Amino acid sequence: MSTASAALLTPETIAKYEPVIGLEVHVQLATRTKIFCGCPTGFGAPPNTNVCPVCLGLPGALPVLNRSVVEMAAQAGIALNCRVNGFSRLARKNYFYPDLPKGYQISQFDQPLAEHGYVEVEVNGEMKRFGVTRVHIEDDAGKSIHDGFKDSERYTYVDLNRSGTPLIEIVSEPDMRSSDDAYAYLTAMKQVMQFIEVSTCDMEKGHLRCDANVSVRLKGAPKFGTKAEVKNLNSFRFLKLALDHEIERQIAVIESGGRVIQETRLYNPDSGETVSMRSKEEAHDYRYFPEPDLVPVRISDEWREKIRASMPELPAIKKKRFTEVYGLKEYDANVLTASRDLSEYYEEAVKASTDPKAVANWVMGDLMGLLNAEGKDITQSPVSAKHLGELVKMITSNEISGAIAKKIFPKMVETGDAPAVIKEREGLSQISDTGAIEKIVDEVIAGNPKQVEQYRGGKTTVIGFLVGQVMKASKGQAAPGVVNELLKKKLG
Ligand code: ADP
Ligand code: ZN
Ligand code: MG
Repeated sequence: MSTASAALLTPETIAKYEPVIGLEVHVQLATRTKIFCGCPTGFGAPPNTNVCPVCLGLPGALPVLNRSVVEMAAQAGIALNCRVNGFSRLARKNYFYPDLPKGYQISQFDQPLAEHGYVEVEVNGEMKRFGVTRVHIEDDAGKSIHDGFKDSERYTYVDLNRSGTPLIEIVSEPDMRSSDDAYAYLTAMKQVMQFIEVSTCDMEKGHLRCDANVSVRLKGAPKFGTKAEVKNLNSFRFLKLALDHEIERQIAVIESGGRVIQETRLYNPDSGETVSMRSKEEAHDYRYFPEPDLVPVRISDEWREKIRASMPELPAIKKKRFTEVYGLKEYDANVLTASRDLSEYYEEAVKASTDPKAVANWVMGDLMGLLNAEGKDITQSPVSAKHLGELVKMITSNEISGAIAKKIFPKMVETGDAPAVIKEREGLSQISDTGAIEKIVDEVIAGNPKQVEQYRGGKTTVIGFLVGQVMKASKGQAAPGVVNELLKKKLG
């Protein structure tokens, strides 16, 4: 299918069709050691140094299942509202590839660890629920490093450090109907996995990988169309671009009288297109059979409950609590629970203050503005949560004015010192000493006879101007309440 005909599609033609999308997401579990041996999982070691007979696939070496893998996968299942099965089995998925020394992957087939879950997420203002078919555990392969041509020979190296790294595969139901749906689903998936700390989900390191299954059908058609699987979607942006391209490609195929064929396609970020890679393999191509070297995985009710009890609060629940307990707006609660670190920073700051809404404003305004400008995340904040909370408390208790707080904050960023310390050192105390303020008030009254006359003539709103003049003359340090009172008294 050429892109030329895809380009001829009118919006009206595209609107006749409905895309259907299901995602297969691989998440690398953050265990210290590999899934079937004690080798470390660390990134960046010299090639082929984190290996042993088991993950090298040497004959006679026997795998032992890592308990943490089962626990983390169960946590993922619970977080995705799945049923975590008391009995599941590992299965051999046979295929040949140079970076798969065993000649098979150990995965799960007909009896996965967890199934029948869902993800709930807001897409363009609408709450949607996408089914999660299953969560299963498996081992990762090594890496082939293609080094191009040298002396007219083609070189590929194999690094088996990654061989045996634990993964979970999360398969969704074909419930998504747009690239926006898929984007929102993957975003929620990443957020949840990071919250429960089963993975860093660092896409650049391949800790979160996504393949998309896509088909299109005429709106209202009873059956799904034939799907293509798009691989190599290693960023959120590429996922959306690749899906939109693939949807249009399939519509163009059908509009020109052709048929979509079931195949695996590769997204090329440079051309923005998907290209055919191979015809789709079927389950029977893999000759799945139960893994004879490992006993089935049994999770007792007790163990499952222990795992559940050890889990942190999930983002959706935290968000709800933030609106109920702190009185935050939905939008603010959303922002402040975007990551676990940010939500914990916020709550720590709230503890040191007395006004959760004001803290939210400071975190989302001044602090996040600063962090974004410097490309930092909340864990790198130069201002500690406790100090930010203290600053807000000083405002709420009228110890300082908002204007002084705005002067103290940049100094907190610079020095990392507590706001009270900066206030003392810089002499930024609020003047609530009536005598000192009275002097300024008298000056302002003397210097603005026109406004004073207006006020006395009944235009009382002009007091705002006069308060402003006093604040200015005091460099923002006069207590606004005292200024107001004094002005009213003196103006009669
Ligand atoms: P296969 O056996 O071909 O891999 P699966 O039933 O395992 O197919 O589904 C793989 C993924 O494809 C799942 O995420 C599922 O939601 C999705 N899927 C299944 N059928 C369709 C379809 N017609 N269009 C889009 N996605 C689909
Ligand atoms: Zn090993
Ligand atoms: Mg499949």
